[in-house]
Amino acid sequence: MKHDAVELRWLADGTYWLGGCLSANAQGQEVHYHVSSYLVMGSKATLLVDTGDPAHRALLLAQLELVLGERPLDYVFPTHPEIPHAGNLPALLDKYPGALVVGDVRDYHLHFPEYRSRFRTQAVGSRIDLGDREFRFLPAFIRDLENTLWGHDDGARMMFVSDGFSFIHDVPAADGASAEDDDEPVHLPGQCRLLSGEMPEPPTVEQAAYGTGRALYWTKFVDVSDAFGGIEAVLDTLPTKLIGPAHGNVIDDVDGMLRTSLAAHRKVYAEGH
Ligand SMILES: [Zn+2]
Ligand SMILES: [Zn+2]
Repeated sequence: MKHDAVELRWLADGTYWLGGCLSANAQGQEVHYHVSSYLVMGSKATLLVDTGDPAHRALLLAQLELVLGERPLDYVFPTHPEIPHAGNLPALLDKYPGALVVGDVRDYHLHFPEYRSRFRTQAVGSRIDLGDREFRFLPAFIRDLENTLWGHDDGARMMFVSDGFSFIHDVPAADGASAEDDDEPVHLPGQCRLLSGEMPEPPTVEQAAYGTGRALYWTKFVDVSDAFGGIEAVLDTLPTKLIGPAHGNVIDDVDGMLRTSLAAHRKVYAEGH
């Protein structure tokens, strides 16, 4: 398993797309799978959304050093306690001794008992003042664990959605067919830091459904249409220009992707039972 170099992307004032990609071979074609983290830097404090995969530990630490400079990392917000989202917690907490872990941390002491004094519960709706911007904790409308949370930064007007909104785009295979029997939402080398609107083609409902059905298998059995009402209600009160999934390209066409995603979830559900 290899990963790409230190590349990161500035998304908005004080907001950076970090982390890396895992690469795999799909029918002779190299494809990538995002394991992203996002850094939000306020005038007073800094916060990292998701820790990324341990395979990217050195990469992530280098990216943070590059962007933070002399500033410390103050908060780490793993959206849930799974390896691609929380696996670099020990490295981050060791490197930044003042950093607190925030979120729904109810079971983190089981995973990381030596750091229990540094966990701080943030309930849904609570906020952290980063200085000139505020980070708000949201319910995870589409989630895979009970204590998954989403977040929103009002500085960049960006929503962080963990395992939600992971799409594949069209990945042509060497033989001209689609490399869609890989089991994760993937993209091509060179597309790692593209916004959804910069990708060659927006994902079709079929592609979104494919990524959705694989990444969130349970959505075959649960009608998540209601979740989209919740998402839309949040978007009505919290203006959102960007959506940052952990495993997909950053979304800059929020309205269009919502429509595609809802149609995809309905398709997965309709075909799944
Ligand atoms: Zn994940
Ligand atoms: Zn990539």
